[in-house]
Amino acid sequence: MHKSEIVIAGDLSSPEFRLPVLRFSGRGTGAPRTYIQAALHAGELPGVVAIHKLIPHLLAAEARGDILGDIVIVPKANPIGAAQWFFGELQGRFELASRVNFNRDHPLVPLAELPSLTENIAALPPADQLKRHLVSMAAACDLVLDLHCDDESQLYAYLDAEFWPAARDLAESFGLEAVLLSDGNSSAFEEAVTYAWRHGDLGGRSAWHEGRISLTMEFRGTRDVDPETAEKDALGILSFLKRRGVVAGTPDRNEPFTGPVAGLDYVQMVNAPVAGAVLFEKNIGMAVTAGERLAVLVTEPGNPDRDHVVTAPTDGVIVTRVSARFVRPGDNLMKIASSELSHQGRKPGGALED
Ligand SMILES: [Zn+2]
Repeated sequence: MHKSEIVIAGDLSSPEFRLPVLRFSGRGTGAPRTYIQAALHAGELPGVVAIHKLIPHLLAAEARGDILGDIVIVPKANPIGAAQWFFGELQGRFELASRVNFNRDHPLVPLAELPSLTENIAALPPADQLKRHLVSMAAACDLVLDLHCDDESQLYAYLDAEFWPAARDLAESFGLEAVLLSDGNSSAFEEAVTYAWRHGDLGGRSAWHEGRISLTMEFRGTRDVDPETAEKDALGILSFLKRRGVVAGTPDRNEPFTGPVAGLDYVQMVNAPVAGAVLFEKNIGMAVTAGERLAVLVTEPGNPDRDHVVTAPTDGVIVTRVSARFVRPGDNLMKIASSELSHQGRKPGGALED
């Protein structure tokens, strides 16, 4: 394993930042090249600890000569967000200087232009430098795993619809509980990578997505950080790498995938109609039918007549739930994967949330 650091130049208002990168060299057998990063939203740690548990497995594989394809790992992909502590809380999702989500506004460039992305960029805002470095490292690989987490959540992944069903091996390696298929037109990191691939030489492939994958993995909820889960997730990553021939050996995990596969327009965003304290009556992973009670919003404590009952807009499975127990009107309460088109007015190619 080779460790290095990318230096992100500071600007008038910030110091320079350092981005550690871990690399394992493959044996040059033509195996896929892999890129893994975690905590692009700086406070999302399940992927960070999964990588922490993965590294010893990769070091052991390296010692055996079992690393076949190059592997690039950025264990904490957002040193800028990680420094944004205010009043005791980490603000790791949006960059304070620009108010832009760290997983939006990634550079959309054709594959051939990747090298130019990181040339003479020290005068750019630090967050733009960071995004250029991350996309240029990732799009140069074949398998790209961007490890996030949701609020309270099942284990699920967002990926371009073109990667399904080829990515079923990934679902079986991780024990995924749901797959959400996007249409690949946003500026999220995962989609900036697929943009480069779509607009690049096929390199002997019959289609741009052949033998490739780029996805956003939602490793459950923000508080699902514990040693057993981290080790299990590490073995999930390792199993996927073994299935794709990046690491030699037999996959450690193989769990049948039986969860829903829903296009983003089939994900029902259940939002709070009023402000209130949230009393959930249903939990993640539960199947619900249209009209079934999901939660009660307490708007006037002491007066049950003012309670607001939130019901399921459709049949489906609850994939995520907000962790806050006070919500404002319009705040998201749950995401439900359903077989019915939702009517959220999502812009074509857009993401579900800001
Ligand atoms: Zn995230």
